[in-house]
Amino acid sequence: MGIRLGCIADDFTGATDLGNNLVRAGMRVVQLIDVPPLGAAGQVDADAVVIALKSRTVPAADAVEASLRALAWLRSAGAEQIYFKYCSTFDSTPAGNIGPVTEALMDALGADFTIATPAFPDNGRTVFKGHLFVGDVLLSESGMRHHPLTPMTDPNLVSVLGAQTTRPVGLIDHVVVAGGVEAIRARIDELREEGFGIAIVDAVSNDDLLTLGAAVQGLRLVTAGSGLAIGLPANWGLTPSRAAEQLPPAGGYRAVVSGSVSDATNHQVQEFLRGGRPAFNVDPVRIAAGEDVAAQALTFAESHLAEGPVLVYSTEAPDTVRAVQGRLGAAEAGELVERTLARVARGLVDRGVRRLVVAGGETSGAVVQALGITELRIGPQIETGVPWCAAALPDGDTLHITLKSGNFGSPDFFTAAFEEAS
Ligand code: ADP
Repeated sequence: MGIRLGCIADDFTGATDLGNNLVRAGMRVVQLIDVPPLGAAGQVDADAVVIALKSRTVPAADAVEASLRALAWLRSAGAEQIYFKYCSTFDSTPAGNIGPVTEALMDALGADFTIATPAFPDNGRTVFKGHLFVGDVLLSESGMRHHPLTPMTDPNLVSVLGAQTTRPVGLIDHVVVAGGVEAIRARIDELREEGFGIAIVDAVSNDDLLTLGAAVQGLRLVTAGSGLAIGLPANWGLTPSRAAEQLPPAGGYRAVVSGSVSDATNHQVQEFLRGGRPAFNVDPVRIAAGEDVAAQALTFAESHLAEGPVLVYSTEAPDTVRAVQGRLGAAEAGELVERTLARVARGLVDRGVRRLVVAGGETSGAVVQALGITELRIGPQIETGVPWCAAALPDGDTLHITLKSGNFGSPDFFTAAFEEAS
């Protein structure tokens, strides 16, 4: 049987976040890193496939091209509905990429109407009268107004999306959503007749997303943050179950590789060190001086892996990171660290680590690439937005891996993660 839902995510950790919500609502989900060759489509055993692209901030034409390749793959795998997933803060500019990708997917699918909502109430993202709130403030008053690549200065998503599309953008507001599935469907018909191609949809609660999920059954394309995912599996008769989050078992050693320098990760490293657990610090200055820091880290790890989780980290407080960046250059320092941590992750797996926590978005990308991982099965959630995943290693063994983006996770994440049934 083919897959039911085919998802295209515009970045890596966003794809995992979407997969996590689908699993929690009862779907068996596989995440693919980039678009595989077309021939491989028959082989995925899942209700939903999420293809992770890096298309959020590339030129719009490149984002469209990658998204259409993903669409072709998902259709060949049998997807009955397509879900274009973007950030819950609607990260984009007047040049795109949410609008251009949405319209290209609509054209390719022959879809004359779709919806757009970044709402994710569990994460404090709500949409009211077409306006996006982040926590208690409008998007334009949140930190997103200073984002280096996609500054969001207009909270009105009808106008934000309208500036990116040729199709007129309408609104399905909270009164309609509160009216239930039939009211939403009637409003969609009305908007279609009035010549609208896309509608922003209000949602301030999970109940709104569940209603919307039921109402969009039959739309070939939906576009949203990860929130809408909670309302779709029921359209295929799927309900939350332990079976959906089941991963093939993994034994072996445990390790944490952390290249994130966020506040949350700093706290997690501190907490791990406070517990007196084995940890090795990767210092970019020593890498730059020509020391084989990866080999040193692996020698250290080898003598401690039997004791419990070992941490290898480059995580430092912002001042220290700035000083290092001043000496080496930010890009150079980042590159040295990423390359070293990727080698460390590879070496840890070679030494029998089969449960691996990775902290940092860029770091995760480098590690996944070094491990040759192209496919992840999404398993049980550890904390909001962060699930355990399973990957098949070349020797046939299973690796459990979790990819924690910078600001996620509570202070004890580096030990608590291993206590989750993974
Ligand atoms: P986050 O998700 O917290 O942003 P990322 O892994 O995406 O984490 O980004 C962190 C960046 O900082 C990476 O490029 C990493 O290589 C770099 N980095 C990590 N540790 C250091 C350090 N000690 N000095 C300078 N740069 C570092």
